[in-house]
Amino acid sequence: KVLLKVEGLTAVVAGTDTEILRGMNLTIREGEVHAIMGKNGSGKSTFSKVLVGHPDYEVTGGTAVFKGEDLFEKEPEERSHAGLFMSFQSPVEVPGVSNMDFLRMSCNARRAAQGLPELGPLEFYGFLSPKLSALNMSPTFLDRNVNEGFSGGEKKRNEILQLAVLEADLAILDEIDSGLDVDALRDVANAVNGLRKSTNAVLMITHYQRLLDYIKPTFVHIMEKGQIVKTGDALLAKQLEAGGYEALSAGS
Ligand code: ADP
Ligand code: MG
Ligand code: MG
Repeated sequence: KVLLKVEGLTAVVAGTDTEILRGMNLTIREGEVHAIMGKNGSGKSTFSKVLVGHPDYEVTGGTAVFKGEDLFEKEPEERSHAGLFMSFQSPVEVPGVSNMDFLRMSCNARRAAQGLPELGPLEFYGFLSPKLSALNMSPTFLDRNVNEGFSGGEKKRNEILQLAVLEADLAILDEIDSGLDVDALRDVANAVNGLRKSTNAVLMITHYQRLLDYIKPTFVHIMEKGQIVKTGDALLAKQLEAGGYEALSAGS
């Protein structure tokens, strides 16, 4: 079953004619893991931000259908409630809001959209606890303000915790491997794998094969100048690592 279908998507920096996405096509089905790789500046982050409705960009053409509905008709919040999740390359800090409250609010907003009853503080803690341990995160983490003073690794783990809490259908993970040491990378990757179901999917953006050793991709796409220029399987990422982008284009 198709979760996301993007066709001919073009987008500019809002209020300008600087085109960044130049005809993106991508279909993601339930149960799949897609990896997007590509040189810096090829538009990978822009693509994921456009999907979640980031105000810095304006869609100028093409379509995106998520779970049978027009994604671009929805506000960013509605996209999240519909089951689309994105981890940011640089997660924001939310001063004055405890991580626990933030997670519970996000969880309940998504539950309300699914017609499920709200979870009270105690129930929510019961729901959260196993997810925390799966990520090797200390409960003291929950009393701190969202991302305030978190180390790079803690921010990434926290994002995966948010993902776990939201039980998203499609998780877009933009460079979740950046700034992680080997142990943290393994924890984060294991947690992502633990969340996989036959009914959900993952879109990972990464520069490194290393992440794909832990989270096995069904498809690997190479992006260049706002388009997907090559699609393959896990082998494509290995070829990329061995020979770089130049070797890859020469061989195509
Ligand atoms: P990637 O994630 O593949 O490294 P990005 O999507 O971050 O690439 O950026 C793609 C290109 O678009 C880059 O040249 C970048 O400088 C430009 N760009 C992205 N966002 C903006 C913006 N808000 N304003 C101006 N240029 C932008
Ligand atoms: Mg970049
Ligand atoms: Mg990027």
